[in-house]
Amino acid sequence: MEPNLEDLSISQDLQMSQESFLKVWGTYLTCSFLANEDNHPSSTNQLHDMPEQFDENLFDMPEVPPVVDAVPPPASTVPVTIDHPGDYGFLLRFQNSGTAKSVTSTYSTMLNKLYCQLAKTSPVEVLVSKEPPAGAILRATAVYKKTEHVADVVRRCPHHQNQDAAPHSSHLIRMEGSQRAQYFEDVNTKRQSVTVPYEPPQLGSEMTTILLSFMCNSSCMGGMNRRPILTILTLETPDGLVLGRRCFEVRVCACPGRDRKTEEENNAKMQSGTKETKKRKSNPPAVAAPVKKPKPSSSTDGDDKERFCLVVFGRERYELLKKINDGLELLEMQAKNKSNAVVRPEVVLPSSGKRPLLKEERSDTD
Ligand SMILES: [Zn+2]
Repeated sequence: MEPNLEDLSISQDLQMSQESFLKVWGTYLTCSFLANEDNHPSSTNQLHDMPEQFDENLFDMPEVPPVVDAVPPPASTVPVTIDHPGDYGFLLRFQNSGTAKSVTSTYSTMLNKLYCQLAKTSPVEVLVSKEPPAGAILRATAVYKKTEHVADVVRRCPHHQNQDAAPHSSHLIRMEGSQRAQYFEDVNTKRQSVTVPYEPPQLGSEMTTILLSFMCNSSCMGGMNRRPILTILTLETPDGLVLGRRCFEVRVCACPGRDRKTEEENNAKMQSGTKETKKRKSNPPAVAAPVKKPKPSSSTDGDDKERFCLVVFGRERYELLKKINDGLELLEMQAKNKSNAVVRPEVVLPSSGKRPLLKEERSDTD
C-alpha cells in the first residue's frame, strides 16, 4: 500500500500521468479485492484461461505486485538444456532431408541443429526404449542459447504476432496435426511451451512423430533478433515430472539447405584447424611456446633471422604469448638502445659534424 501512496502524490503533480495512475489504481483495487475475497491462489491462473480478456490486463498486472503474493515463489527461471535419456531411453531422430535449395526443413547431425523455414512443418521422431506411464506428454520449450540472452523469454515478434488471430499467437513453437496440443505460459517465468499427449508408435513402427513449426524467423526484429535458440523437448508424466529431455539448436531462415551447408563447412574447417594445431602442439611437447619468435623487423644484427608462426587457440592465450614475445623484443631493443646510449653522449658533447651523425643514421636505418 505504501509505495502506491507515494505514487499518488507524484501523479497529482503530473496531470498527464494521472489518467494512467487511476487505471492502475482501479486494477489494483479490483485485483486485490479478488485476491482477498477468494483468498485463492489460482485467481491469477483463471485470468490466464481467458486469453482475450487477460491480454488487456497483461500490461497492467506487473505494476501491481501485491496480487502475486498468493502464488509460490518462481521456480526454475532458466530451463535445463542438458540431454537426459532417462529410464525410458528418450531419443529424437530427424528425417534426412539433405541440403537441397528447395528443402524447407533439414537437420544437421554434425551441429545438432535444425534449419527450417518460417511456419513450415518439421517432423521430429520420438523414440523410447520402453512404454512411458499412461498420460505421459511431450513438451516443447524454446530458450535462448547464449548465456547473455538466456534470461529473456523466447516469444514471437510483435509483427508476426499481430498478424495472427490464433489464441496462442505469441508462441514461437507450434505442434501441428494434433487437436490435443495445449499451449502454456508459466505464471511466474512467462515462459511458453506447447504439449501433446505421448502416443505409442503405431503397429509396425518403432517411433512416433511430432510436427513442430516455428512461427518467426531467427532474424525477426523485436523477437529472436538473430539470437540463436535451443528447443527443449521433454517427456513428462501428467504431473509434469520430467522423464527424459533432448535439446537441439534451431535456426529459422529463408534457405535452410544453404545455411546448413555453409555452417557445416565452416565447422569442418574449424575442426580440421584444431586437429592440425593439436598435432603440431603434441609433436614438440610443452616447448611449443618458447619456439615462438615472429620477428617482424629484418634486423641485421643477425644471430637469429629465422621466423616461426605459431597457431594459438584462444584469444587469452594468444595475448599472453604475445606479451611474452613483446617483452622479449622490448628487452632486445633496450639492449640495442643501451649500446646506442653509450654512443650518444659522445655524439652530443663534441659538436663536431659528420662522423657521429653518420653513426646515428646507420643505427636508425638499421
Ligand atoms: Zn517474427
